[in-house]
Amino acid sequence: MLMSTRLRSLLFSLFTAFLLASMLPQAAPSWAALPASYIPAFLQNRQAVSQAAPALPAHVATVTPTAVTALRPYRVGLQVGHYKNDELPQQLSRLLGSVGTSGGGRTEIDLNLDVTNRIALLLRAQGVLVDILPTTVPSGYSADAFVAIHADGNASSAPRGFKISTRWESEVAVQDGNLVQLLTDNYRAATSLPEDANVTRDMRGYYAYSPWRPNYRTSNYVPGAIVEMGYMTNASDRTVLFKSANKVAVGVANGIMAFLKQDYGSSVGVRSYGYGIEDTSINPSAPEPPAFKHSSAPKSSTGDWQALLMGNATINVYSDPGSGTVVARLPRGSFYHSSLRNGDYYRIDLPGGKQGWVSRNAVIIQMKTGQ
Ligand SMILES: [Zn+2]
Repeated sequence: MLMSTRLRSLLFSLFTAFLLASMLPQAAPSWAALPASYIPAFLQNRQAVSQAAPALPAHVATVTPTAVTALRPYRVGLQVGHYKNDELPQQLSRLLGSVGTSGGGRTEIDLNLDVTNRIALLLRAQGVLVDILPTTVPSGYSADAFVAIHADGNASSAPRGFKISTRWESEVAVQDGNLVQLLTDNYRAATSLPEDANVTRDMRGYYAYSPWRPNYRTSNYVPGAIVEMGYMTNASDRTVLFKSANKVAVGVANGIMAFLKQDYGSSVGVRSYGYGIEDTSINPSAPEPPAFKHSSAPKSSTGDWQALLMGNATINVYSDPGSGTVVARLPRGSFYHSSLRNGDYYRIDLPGGKQGWVSRNAVIIQMKTGQ
């Protein structure tokens, strides 16, 4: 029996519609179709790129197409201090002798690598893309956060404790300050280690995030911090670093996650910091600068600075650089103008025409973009 072309065509359409409709439940699920419990909490409101669901032929559109959200995961760079020191480019040749400390029968590189791998595991389990970086950071490296992992050592076995800080000055001073604070709070809570207040100039001038260097450092728009986990030369610190390495890793990972949530959160708009912002001040082929600035002795200098207070919840302001009485106690997170630095202290302008001095380690200078 022959059917008319028209009838055949109609039956075929109906059959196709039935087939497509029966296949619908197997279509790739969108985030919206998943129970909320399937989606990590920190990702639930996060969307970077939206794209329309594939269009269905009108006659099989038995469900309303929903927008599919493609999520951009957070991206974090973890640097293993001193790792692959034998692969330095000519521009970093000054670091050849910088092989790190040791203690308790282990090298710092060994400890840094162990803890960094644990941190990466914790972050990746939460959906974060992690780059593990050696001493040589790719020029202009970009991520939502950059954290360098180191451990301390001393000729004496007495010094102990951890310390976390960031660069002297920054295009992203607010984010740097937040990263330091959240890492510090979470690291202290996870490890119960004491805090060593003696943040060094080498930490502030750390080559891998120093904005004045032309290359082999992160983009100036990447929030960055350096973690000195504790002293390998102190028995009490070693007990935590060696025997509770997971606590150490949890402290850093929690700090990073808290920072990502706080400073990126569910924002979908364009940000002025983090992954993907090109740093035009990078010159990959520039030669090594004549000297590492951070190794020079502190001196008096004048400027026109916006100084962000960071670190402790309240910061002491002194009548003199390094001495005198406390003239004010200010909360972290606010900017003050400064025009004079004397050694390890900045003089800041206070309301009412007064002035006072704050320690360099409670200050990060906001750079004027493009300078
Ligand atoms: Zn180190």
